[in-house]
Amino acid sequence: MNEGDPVEILVQGDHIILERYRPRCVFCTTMDSVVEFKDKHICAECLQQVTGK
Ligand SMILES: [Zn+2]
Repeated sequence: MNEGDPVEILVQGDHIILERYRPRCVFCTTMDSVVEFKDKHICAECLQQVTGK
């Protein structure tokens, strides 16, 4: 992890966990194959449905 990387702070019981932030698809909230599309994050599957290709 590098300094300045976006991170997500998770609290699990007594532990605070810093995880590298991974964007989620705005439609189905998956973290797989997420790309940026018009300032939103969207997965490949939803992108396909949006673009109709
Ligand atoms: Zn999706």
